[in-house]
Amino acid sequence: MPVLVISGANRGIGLEFVRQYAADGWTIVAGVRDPGKAGDLAGLKGVEVVELRVDDPLSIRAFADGLAGRRVDLLINNAGVMGPEGPDQSKERIDVAGWMQTLQVNALAPILLAQALKPSLAAGAKVVTLSSQLGSITENEGAGLYAYRASKAAVNMGNRCLAVDWRDDGITCIVLHPGWVQTDMGGPKAPVKPPDSVAGMRRVIAGAGPADSGAFFGFDGRRIPW
Ligand code: NDP
Repeated sequence: MPVLVISGANRGIGLEFVRQYAADGWTIVAGVRDPGKAGDLAGLKGVEVVELRVDDPLSIRAFADGLAGRRVDLLINNAGVMGPEGPDQSKERIDVAGWMQTLQVNALAPILLAQALKPSLAAGAKVVTLSSQLGSITENEGAGLYAYRASKAAVNMGNRCLAVDWRDDGITCIVLHPGWVQTDMGGPKAPVKPPDSVAGMRRVIAGAGPADSGAFFGFDGRRIPW
């Protein structure tokens, strides 16, 4: 059975990814910040819950070491944060520590995790990183959310670097916008439900091949401008 490794698996979009791939019989290594708070993953067949604090490079290293010698078919970098409260990442003021933490989680961690798992990624493997349309420079007419937007633009570039560097290894690396999704982050007014977002992203992931590596897609398959 194919093997999925995913971060931030205990709630929101990550949890829905686990549910859907588990239902298809995949083996899943579900990285969670706190295994004590991963109750929704309990009882899902084929799911191993493993501690993974993505803002800590030592935790990323330990997580990867625990997977040494195993094949990984799909890595989904899902864990993410919105960053400081709105006014603290706006034209009024910037929370410096909050900006750095947002970059650490959203931009740096996905690249560190992919690199740490590289020995487990064979030709044909895919690395998928949850970005956001809010990270599109072309489409930014809303401003605000400085740290969040900057972190997603940065991870887009990090992914593109991986895609280029791993082209000859046959590893496909893409970034995805999941839609505006009803989760703790997206809030109750979001128009897209997690099952629909994840079903759409799974279609995009299944269809993505080496020719798509480095690209930025929406959950509906639309190419999103940088
Ligand atoms: P949620 O806030 O619902 O869930 C975030 C997940 O990330 C949680 O599992 C959380 O774990 C985990 N996480 C955060 N920080 C860390 C950390 N330091 N170490 C380990 N895990 C961590 O978000 P969503 O499910 O909505 O979002 C998933 C991804 O999709 C994110 O990357 C987000 O930016 C992106 N996205 C979401 C959109 C939306 O509308 N919802 C729109 C565009 C992009 P814990 O429970 O321990 O906090």
